[in-house]
Amino acid sequence: MSKPFQQFNLSEEIIRALGDLDYTEPTEIQERVLPIAMQKQDIIAKSQTGSGKTAAFAIPICENVEWLENKPQALVLTPTRELAVQVKEEFTNIGRYKRIKATALYGKQPFRYQQDELKQKTHIAVGTPGRVLDHIEKGTLKLEKIKYLVLDESDEMLNMGFLDQVEAILSYLPKERITMLFSATVPNEIKTLALRHMKQPVDIEVEQQQQTAPQIEHVAMEVPEEEKFAVLKKALIVENPDSCIIFCRTKDRVDEVHDRLYDLEYSVDKLHGGMDQSTRLMVMDDYKRGEFRYLVATDVAARGIDVENISLVVNYDLPLEKEAYVHRTGRTGRAGLSGKAITFVTPHEHNFLAGIEEFIQFEIAKTALPTAEAVAANQDAFEQKMDSKPVKKKSKSAKVDAQITKLYFNGGKKKKLRAVDFVGTIAKIPGMTGDDIGIITILDTSTFIEILNGKGNLVLKAMKTTPIKGKHLKVHIANSKSF
Ligand code: AMP
Repeated sequence: MSKPFQQFNLSEEIIRALGDLDYTEPTEIQERVLPIAMQKQDIIAKSQTGSGKTAAFAIPICENVEWLENKPQALVLTPTRELAVQVKEEFTNIGRYKRIKATALYGKQPFRYQQDELKQKTHIAVGTPGRVLDHIEKGTLKLEKIKYLVLDESDEMLNMGFLDQVEAILSYLPKERITMLFSATVPNEIKTLALRHMKQPVDIEVEQQQQTAPQIEHVAMEVPEEEKFAVLKKALIVENPDSCIIFCRTKDRVDEVHDRLYDLEYSVDKLHGGMDQSTRLMVMDDYKRGEFRYLVATDVAARGIDVENISLVVNYDLPLEKEAYVHRTGRTGRAGLSGKAITFVTPHEHNFLAGIEEFIQFEIAKTALPTAEAVAANQDAFEQKMDSKPVKKKSKSAKVDAQITKLYFNGGKKKKLRAVDFVGTIAKIPGMTGDDIGIITILDTSTFIEILNGKGNLVLKAMKTTPIKGKHLKVHIANSKSF
């Protein structure tokens, strides 16, 4: 059997992690980026979200990171907090068996928490420009060992006005480094930035797929403003989706549509920039796992967010920017699955719709509003689904995580314990090797250690009676995935 990822000379640990993630063969962008990144050349990659671009830079970085080095060796800048967390997770999953530690840095989460994390061994820092700059200027993010810089979704960083901060960060970074720039489009500002800060970058452009995935059925309906909610209800009955995102223009709109659906006992939650960060992440996580069926959101949720099996996207309000149409509807029909996008257009908005059509280079089919007959015919099926819980989606890292137990020990730096002390003791337990030990996080008064390969209980049992560096520590299974 051919093993396509092996063609890139990847280590056993990375290949194994890719297998766990069911990445059986490289996507086109990975096929193109990997050989060049492994040769340590700068890259400008024009690629869409959904193409597998995260792994395209995460694989070579994980491969080349030196585990023993405590200071960050790679910095990834992303436009949004959600994307920062998602990219961090991809690094953690791919680097699992190399025990790669990635840390996400973004606004709203307490600075102190991230500062504490950065005091630990951190191989990869992933963050939004503002917070990363803050850490750099306060001296909490050390840059002298950075060998890789990734600018992810650079065009979006430009749109959000982050380019000055990106420039400032670039001015602090070591000049000897590899820079990879990923962007769906490469406008002039990005080109100029690349020219100034990159060394003979190799241009990579994956075959421009159609702007939107071909499996998506696009339709538009003319709906007067005041009838939107009534039409939404009908459309949802007719479509009866398993998983659906409803996009609105403002957070007040999101609140309004969400509250009305909630009052009608729809399985619904919401996402917008006015919500605090931890709630946003929680909602995203729940949605990814299929805890609820309808997500009402502003464009915050549209970009780069990777959720499987969304069967319906409703543009309750037309997006203000043409690009946003592509990003919104790109939430559905991913990975070869089919999907549908319904766009509400008020009678005054036909010009905007024409602008979008020009941008996506095809006409969106205009359809009539759902008829009373269609609604009646689907009512029973809809109600049945209302009464059943949404199908739970398997978390991408579930297969990797199933093999991992995180243990808590009630001693850390203050007891002068170091990673080698834990590794030395645990690796001597009969049946264990150093390879069975995952990420180690040593805090002042506690330590968290991942035990891999389903050997958690073995270690737990042994460590109840085995001292570490002469000290008996309490040990139990850590109750949360993060510390
Ligand atoms: P991205 O463009 O990085 O957001 O990735 C889009 C989706 O593709 C994510 O769900 C990835 O987990 C998935 N993915 C990335 N690489 C592969 C691969 N080689 N095989 C299968 N799925 C992949």
